Amino acid sequence: MADIIAIDIGGTNIKYGIIDHEGHIKNKGIVPTEAYNGGQALMDKVQNIVKQEIDHTSHLLGIGVSSAGQIEPKTGSVRFATDNLPGWTGMPIKDILTKRFNVPVYVDNDVNCAALGEFWQGAAQHRDDIIMITLGTGIGGAIVKEGRIFYGADGAAGEFGHMMLYPDGIRCTCGLTGCYEQYASTNALIRMVTDRLNKGEASILDENVAISGKDIFEAEKHGDRLAMDVINDWITYISWGLSIIVHSLNPSTIIIGGGVSAQGKEFIDRIKKKTIQLVMPSFAEHLSIKPAELSNDAGIIGAAYGVMRGDI
Ligand SMILES: [Zn+2]
Repeated sequence: MADIIAIDIGGTNIKYGIIDHEGHIKNKGIVPTEAYNGGQALMDKVQNIVKQEIDHTSHLLGIGVSSAGQIEPKTGSVRFATDNLPGWTGMPIKDILTKRFNVPVYVDNDVNCAALGEFWQGAAQHRDDIIMITLGTGIGGAIVKEGRIFYGADGAAGEFGHMMLYPDGIRCTCGLTGCYEQYASTNALIRMVTDRLNKGEASILDENVAISGKDIFEAEKHGDRLAMDVINDWITYISWGLSIIVHSLNPSTIIIGGGVSAQGKEFIDRIKKKTIQLVMPSFAEHLSIKPAELSNDAGIIGAAYGVMRGDI
């Protein structure tokens, strides 16, 4: 049996595991990232995990790393990380791990790894031309073609969150205005609810308490008018963006990940129904839109697949 050590570095936790060449997780663990200790401490922590796990592997094929932030695909170094991971920008992850452990190393960002994970072992198995979109506090995206990430000229393809929906719309964290992310992320959902509560609309949701996406879905289930209206609007926004993606990339499958995938197939079917209405029939015929299946394991499984696939 050949194994891969896979590590998924997030702002809060590091998930890791040993994954065999068939994609089965043999064992896994989780430790706090403690990002406040800085980039070097984080890199030391990653190396310690590899060192600790190496004893549990039979034949080590390589190391796969999924990381938050923007990863330079060719060099496997961090192009940019936000303040969630201070000191992480510029970290040559692949270089350091290759030199120290002398095995192939695959490094990619978290959304690309999640997409590869779903392609290998999850919702997109046996499918090609796949899109993954994560709807969370922001919007992430990835494009998979023949088991490979499509990177584009600068390694940044799939940045769907910043497609423009409104030329003079809401200002985005990226500096542009009217970005998809400002209308279709869970942050946007919460903002739309709070705006209407602040205008005095009646709802079982309380404007004086921090509201989560989950609260809004709960309120909808209880027949709350405001929650129902806003979720309907939100589904429309999500579908607008998906229709642009469908017409430009003609995917076979769109996997929806992020917090919203917890709402399950029923909710994703509502998005699918709306999206189908917005695309030309020839694009809609074989289009599948599904929730992600691998949840928290998608990152490690996808990072392992990057190693398995070879050519790194
Ligand atoms: Zn933007």
